[in-house]
Amino acid sequence: MSKKEEKDKKTGAWNYYVVDLQKKEVKLTKKKCPRCGNFLAFHEEGRKRYYCGNCHYTEFVAT
Ligand SMILES: [Zn+2]
Repeated sequence: MSKKEEKDKKTGAWNYYVVDLQKKEVKLTKKKCPRCGNFLAFHEEGRKRYYCGNCHYTEFVAT
């Protein structure tokens, strides 16, 4: 019984906006904005936070 399991699902969710302001560490996440439902970007420089490029919602990460 061989069952193929494709764990790498390609959803195409990476085709969102990419924020690249002079090599500031910004990663797109699958976390959604509680305000507008847009995908949040994760900023690592300075204080870690999630940021919505649509409505400017910011969520700081408590470390
Ligand atoms: Zn938002």
